[in-house]
Amino acid sequence: MKRMYEGKAKIVYQSDDPETVHIEYKDEATAGNGAMRGVIARKGPMNRDITVQLMRVVEAAGVPTHLLTEVGDRFILARKLRMIPLEVVVRNRIAGSLARRLGLAEGAPLPEPIVEFYYKSDELGDPLIVPAHAPLLGVDLETVRALEELALRVNAALAPFLLDRGIVLVDFKLEFGRDAEGTIRLGDEISPDTCRFWDAATNEKLDKDRFRRGLGGEAEAYAEVLRRIAAPRPGA
Ligand code: UDP
Repeated sequence: MKRMYEGKAKIVYQSDDPETVHIEYKDEATAGNGAMRGVIARKGPMNRDITVQLMRVVEAAGVPTHLLTEVGDRFILARKLRMIPLEVVVRNRIAGSLARRLGLAEGAPLPEPIVEFYYKSDELGDPLIVPAHAPLLGVDLETVRALEELALRVNAALAPFLLDRGIVLVDFKLEFGRDAEGTIRLGDEISPDTCRFWDAATNEKLDKDRFRRGLGGEAEAYAEVLRRIAAPRPGA
Protein backbone atom coordinates (compact mmCIF):
# COMPACT_ATOMS: atom_id res chain seq x y z
CA MET A 1 0.00 0.00 0.00
CA LYS A 2 1.24 3.48 -0.85
CA ARG A 3 1.62 5.84 2.11
CA MET A 4 -0.18 9.14 1.38
CA TYR A 5 0.21 10.86 4.72
CA GLU A 6 1.64 10.10 8.14
CA GLY A 7 0.26 11.97 11.12
CA LYS A 8 1.09 11.77 14.82
CA ALA A 9 -1.36 8.94 15.59
CA LYS A 10 -2.37 7.52 12.20
CA ILE A 11 -1.03 6.68 8.74
CA VAL A 12 -3.19 7.04 5.62
CA TYR A 13 -2.54 4.70 2.67
CA GLN A 14 -3.96 4.85 -0.83
CA SER A 15 -5.96 1.67 -1.52
CA ASP A 16 -6.62 0.05 -4.92
CA ASP A 17 -9.83 2.06 -5.32
CA PRO A 18 -9.00 5.80 -5.79
CA GLU A 19 -12.06 6.77 -3.71
CA THR A 20 -10.95 4.88 -0.58
CA VAL A 21 -8.01 4.84 1.82
CA HIS A 22 -6.68 2.50 4.48
CA ILE A 23 -6.01 4.19 7.82
CA GLU A 24 -3.62 2.64 10.34
CA TYR A 25 -3.92 3.52 14.03
CA LYS A 26 -0.50 3.79 15.67
CA ASP A 27 0.57 3.03 19.25
CA GLU A 28 2.65 6.24 19.36
CA ALA A 29 1.28 9.07 21.48
CA THR A 30 2.26 12.73 21.32
CA ALA A 31 1.13 15.80 23.22
CA GLY A 32 1.84 19.51 23.14
CA ASN A 33 2.08 19.54 19.32
CA GLY A 34 4.79 16.82 19.37
CA ALA A 35 6.76 18.15 22.38
CA MET A 36 5.92 14.98 24.41
CA ARG A 37 6.31 11.57 22.80
CA GLY A 38 5.69 8.02 23.97
CA VAL A 39 4.08 4.70 23.18
CA ILE A 40 0.88 3.41 24.76
CA ALA A 41 0.80 -0.40 24.44
CA ARG A 42 -1.94 -1.57 22.01
CA LYS A 43 -3.29 1.99 21.66
CA GLY A 44 -3.70 1.60 17.89
CA PRO A 45 -6.00 -1.44 18.01
CA MET A 46 -7.95 -0.02 20.97
CA ASN A 47 -8.47 3.38 19.31
CA ARG A 48 -9.46 1.65 16.07
CA ASP A 49 -12.10 -0.40 17.90
CA ILE A 50 -13.39 2.56 19.96
CA THR A 51 -13.55 4.78 16.84
CA VAL A 52 -15.47 2.15 14.87
CA GLN A 53 -18.04 1.64 17.65
CA LEU A 54 -18.55 5.38 18.19
CA MET A 55 -18.70 6.21 14.45
CA ARG A 56 -21.51 3.64 14.16
CA VAL A 57 -23.41 5.47 16.91
CA VAL A 58 -22.83 8.74 15.04
CA GLU A 59 -23.98 7.25 11.71
CA ALA A 60 -27.15 5.94 13.39
CA ALA A 61 -27.85 9.54 14.47
CA GLY A 62 -27.73 10.66 10.82
CA VAL A 63 -24.21 12.11 10.63
CA PRO A 64 -22.27 10.65 7.67
CA THR A 65 -18.75 9.37 8.45
CA HIS A 66 -15.82 8.13 6.39
CA LEU A 67 -15.97 4.63 7.92
CA LEU A 68 -16.47 1.68 5.56
CA THR A 69 -15.07 -1.45 7.29
CA GLU A 70 -12.51 -2.69 9.76
CA VAL A 71 -9.39 -4.35 8.33
CA GLY A 72 -7.02 -6.44 10.46
CA ASP A 73 -6.57 -5.30 14.04
CA ARG A 74 -5.41 -1.70 13.54
CA PHE A 75 -6.77 -0.49 10.18
CA ILE A 76 -10.02 0.76 8.73
CA LEU A 77 -11.05 1.13 5.12
CA ALA A 78 -12.53 4.62 4.74
CA ARG A 79 -13.87 6.91 2.05
CA LYS A 80 -11.24 9.32 0.86
CA LEU A 81 -12.14 12.85 1.99
CA ARG A 82 -10.87 16.30 1.09
CA MET A 83 -10.29 17.49 4.64
CA ILE A 84 -11.58 20.85 5.86
CA PRO A 85 -8.63 22.49 7.72
CA LEU A 86 -10.53 23.08 10.97
CA GLU A 87 -10.65 21.17 14.25
CA VAL A 88 -14.13 21.34 15.72
CA VAL A 89 -14.19 21.04 19.52
CA VAL A 90 -17.40 20.44 21.47
CA ARG A 91 -17.42 20.98 25.23
CA ASN A 92 -19.93 19.83 27.85
CA ARG A 93 -17.80 20.65 30.90
CA ILE A 94 -15.02 23.12 31.64
CA ALA A 95 -11.62 21.47 31.08
CA GLY A 96 -8.28 21.79 29.33
CA SER A 97 -7.62 24.92 27.29
CA LEU A 98 -11.01 26.45 28.16
CA ALA A 99 -10.15 26.25 31.87
CA ARG A 100 -6.69 27.72 31.18
CA ARG A 101 -7.89 30.46 28.82
CA LEU A 102 -10.63 31.73 31.13
CA GLY A 103 -8.91 30.98 34.45
CA LEU A 104 -11.71 28.62 35.57
CA ALA A 105 -11.56 25.36 37.53
CA GLU A 106 -12.00 22.11 35.57
CA GLY A 107 -15.15 20.07 36.02
CA ALA A 108 -18.18 22.37 36.05
CA PRO A 109 -20.92 21.37 33.56
CA LEU A 110 -21.69 24.02 30.93
CA PRO A 111 -25.32 25.17 30.64
CA GLU A 112 -25.22 24.45 26.89
CA PRO A 113 -22.55 22.67 24.83
CA ILE A 114 -19.94 25.07 23.41
CA VAL A 115 -18.56 24.59 19.88
CA GLU A 116 -15.11 26.02 19.09
CA PHE A 117 -13.08 26.09 15.87
CA TYR A 118 -9.31 25.78 15.62
CA TYR A 119 -7.24 26.25 12.47
CA LYS A 120 -5.42 22.97 11.78
CA SER A 121 -1.82 24.12 11.42
CA ASP A 122 1.14 22.49 13.22
CA GLU A 123 3.27 25.54 12.34
CA LEU A 124 0.88 27.90 14.14
CA GLY A 125 0.03 25.43 16.94
CA ASP A 126 -3.64 25.01 15.93
CA PRO A 127 -4.89 28.49 16.97
CA LEU A 128 -8.44 29.13 18.19
CA ILE A 129 -10.35 31.11 15.57
CA VAL A 130 -13.72 32.84 15.33
CA PRO A 131 -16.08 31.79 12.49
CA ALA A 132 -15.43 35.05 10.61
CA HIS A 133 -11.80 33.96 10.16
CA ALA A 134 -12.79 30.74 8.35
CA PRO A 135 -13.31 32.31 4.87
CA LEU A 136 -9.69 33.59 5.07
CA LEU A 137 -8.69 29.90 5.36
CA GLY A 138 -10.83 28.85 2.40
CA VAL A 139 -13.83 27.63 4.44
CA ASP A 140 -17.07 29.50 3.73
CA LEU A 141 -19.50 30.50 6.48
CA GLU A 142 -22.18 28.08 5.25
CA THR A 143 -19.72 25.23 5.78
CA VAL A 144 -18.86 26.55 9.26
CA ARG A 145 -22.57 26.55 10.16
CA ALA A 146 -22.94 23.00 8.81
CA LEU A 147 -19.93 21.84 10.86
CA GLU A 148 -21.38 23.35 14.02
CA GLU A 149 -24.70 21.61 13.44
CA LEU A 150 -23.05 18.25 12.69
CA ALA A 151 -20.77 18.53 15.73
CA LEU A 152 -23.74 19.19 18.03
CA ARG A 153 -25.52 16.16 16.53
CA VAL A 154 -22.47 14.02 17.22
CA ASN A 155 -22.46 15.29 20.81
CA ALA A 156 -26.20 14.65 21.23
CA ALA A 157 -25.67 11.04 20.10
CA LEU A 158 -22.44 10.25 21.94
CA ALA A 159 -23.01 11.91 25.33
CA PRO A 160 -26.02 9.77 26.34
CA PHE A 161 -24.53 6.61 24.77
CA LEU A 162 -21.41 7.05 26.89
CA LEU A 163 -23.24 8.09 30.06
CA ASP A 164 -25.23 4.83 29.86
CA ARG A 165 -21.83 3.15 30.09
CA GLY A 166 -20.60 5.18 33.04
CA ILE A 167 -18.54 7.69 31.01
CA VAL A 168 -18.96 11.48 31.03
CA LEU A 169 -18.14 13.04 27.65
CA VAL A 170 -16.34 16.18 28.88
CA ASP A 171 -15.14 17.47 25.48
CA PHE A 172 -13.86 16.19 22.15
CA LYS A 173 -12.35 17.19 18.82
CA LEU A 174 -13.74 16.32 15.38
CA GLU A 175 -12.40 16.72 11.85
CA PHE A 176 -14.60 16.74 8.77
CA GLY A 177 -14.05 16.49 5.04
CA ARG A 178 -15.96 16.26 1.77
CA ASP A 179 -16.37 13.05 -0.23
CA ALA A 180 -16.35 12.82 -4.04
CA GLU A 181 -20.03 13.92 -4.13
CA GLY A 182 -19.34 16.96 -1.93
CA THR A 183 -21.10 15.51 1.13
CA ILE A 184 -19.56 16.56 4.44
CA ARG A 185 -18.52 13.48 6.44
CA LEU A 186 -16.89 13.00 9.82
CA GLY A 187 -13.33 11.75 9.35
CA ASP A 188 -10.34 11.25 11.65
CA GLU A 189 -11.12 9.34 14.87
CA ILE A 190 -13.24 9.40 18.02
CA SER A 191 -11.04 7.94 20.74
CA PRO A 192 -9.46 8.66 24.13
CA ASP A 193 -6.74 10.51 22.16
CA THR A 194 -9.30 13.06 20.97
CA CYS A 195 -11.97 13.03 23.68
CA ARG A 196 -11.98 13.66 27.42
CA PHE A 197 -13.74 10.72 29.05
CA TRP A 198 -14.30 10.82 32.82
CA ASP A 199 -15.60 7.94 34.89
CA ALA A 200 -19.12 9.04 35.85
CA ALA A 201 -18.83 7.73 39.41
CA THR A 202 -15.30 8.83 40.35
CA ASN A 203 -14.35 11.52 37.73
CA GLU A 204 -11.22 9.40 37.07
CA LYS A 205 -9.65 10.35 33.71
CA LEU A 206 -9.99 7.60 31.10
CA ASP A 207 -8.24 9.42 28.23
CA LYS A 208 -5.03 10.99 26.92
CA ASP A 209 -4.87 13.46 29.80
CA ARG A 210 -3.28 10.52 31.71
CA PHE A 211 -0.37 10.80 29.23
CA ARG A 212 -0.40 14.60 28.87
CA ARG A 213 -0.31 15.06 32.65
CA GLY A 214 2.05 12.14 33.47
CA LEU A 215 -0.57 10.27 35.52
CA GLY A 216 0.31 6.80 34.12
CA GLY A 217 -2.15 3.95 33.52
CA GLU A 218 -2.95 5.04 29.93
CA ALA A 219 -3.25 1.54 28.44
CA GLU A 220 -5.51 0.40 31.30
CA ALA A 221 -7.74 3.47 30.91
CA TYR A 222 -8.11 3.01 27.14
CA ALA A 223 -8.89 -0.70 27.68
CA GLU A 224 -11.55 0.23 30.22
CA VAL A 225 -13.21 2.62 27.75
CA LEU A 226 -13.23 -0.07 25.08
CA ARG A 227 -14.59 -2.66 27.52
CA ARG A 228 -17.50 -0.39 28.47
CA ILE A 229 -18.28 0.66 24.90
CA ALA A 230 -18.15 -2.88 23.52
CA ALA A 231 -20.24 -4.38 26.33
CA PRO A 232 -23.97 -4.87 25.73
CA ARG A 233 -25.93 -1.88 27.06
CA PRO A 234 -26.71 -2.32 30.78
CA GLY A 235 -30.28 -3.55 31.16
CA ALA A 236 -30.74 -4.13 27.41
N1 UDP B 1 -7.96 17.82 21.17
C1 UDP B 1 -7.43 16.99 20.19
N2 UDP B 1 -6.39 17.45 19.42
C2 UDP B 1 -5.85 18.68 19.58
C3 UDP B 1 -6.39 19.52 20.59
C4 UDP B 1 -7.43 19.07 21.35
O1 UDP B 1 -7.91 15.88 20.00
O2 UDP B 1 -4.91 19.03 18.84
C5 UDP B 1 -9.10 17.35 21.98
C6 UDP B 1 -8.70 17.07 23.41
O3 UDP B 1 -8.42 15.69 23.59
C7 UDP B 1 -9.94 17.45 24.19
C8 UDP B 1 -10.61 18.53 23.32
O4 UDP B 1 -10.05 18.39 22.04
O5 UDP B 1 -10.83 16.34 24.29
C9 UDP B 1 -10.39 19.92 23.84
O6 UDP B 1 -9.01 20.15 24.00
P1 UDP B 1 -8.48 21.49 24.66
O7 UDP B 1 -8.79 22.63 23.75
O8 UDP B 1 -9.00 21.60 26.04
O9 UDP B 1 -6.92 21.36 24.60
P2 UDP B 1 -5.82 20.72 25.57
O10 UDP B 1 -6.26 20.83 26.97
O11 UDP B 1 -5.68 19.32 25.09
O12 UDP B 1 -4.65 21.59 25.27
